[in-house]
Amino acid sequence: MRLILLGAPGSGKGTQAERLAEAKGLVHISSGDLFRKAEKEGTELGKLAKSYMEKGLLVPDEVTIKMILERISEIDQGFMLDGFPRTLEQAQALDKALNKDGIDKAIYIDVSREELLRRLSGRWICKQCQAPYHMVSSPPKIAGRCDVCGGELYQRADDTRETAQKRLEVYFEQTAPLIDYYKESGRLLEVEGERSIEEVKENILKLLS
Ligand SMILES: [Zn+2]
Repeated sequence: MRLILLGAPGSGKGTQAERLAEAKGLVHISSGDLFRKAEKEGTELGKLAKSYMEKGLLVPDEVTIKMILERISEIDQGFMLDGFPRTLEQAQALDKALNKDGIDKAIYIDVSREELLRRLSGRWICKQCQAPYHMVSSPPKIAGRCDVCGGELYQRADDTRETAQKRLEVYFEQTAPLIDYYKESGRLLEVEGERSIEEVKENILKLLS
């Protein structure tokens, strides 16, 4: 089984990837982990990828795909890709590289933009003791005050609504054509993501069986 997991920042994709890989006996291949591993082991591809990152450039798709193929050649069970492909060009290149053994299914965790914004921009942190809060899932007892030490709560620049909105715009612009691509080739499985982690996982497992 060769799967791809798609989902916006805040969709719970990373958590699902880990749980699904465990439940189905698949190897979880995240592009971030691939880069770190290749760099640590000092492989040729790792060095090449690093040379781009050091210049502040994006690692070219061919390099990332070669790393994925290298990783796939080391394993003899199925896998779940997480974080790649992100664009239509990458998806097409990946299918071509895998040729007859292309991707079986792409699972898309669907969460509305409003909910994603709520999840991404709800994080607040205590100025004094760094205790984390979330305005939706774990709010403080007194608004703006830390339950632990009474300190003032603040939002990091990364967690503001404006930043979250920008991240989501970029994501949807890149990913919409990707979702269509898998849909048109009959490989898209969509799951409603505004449920508990466990329910989303169970629903994906049902779709896969
Ligand atoms: Zn505190």
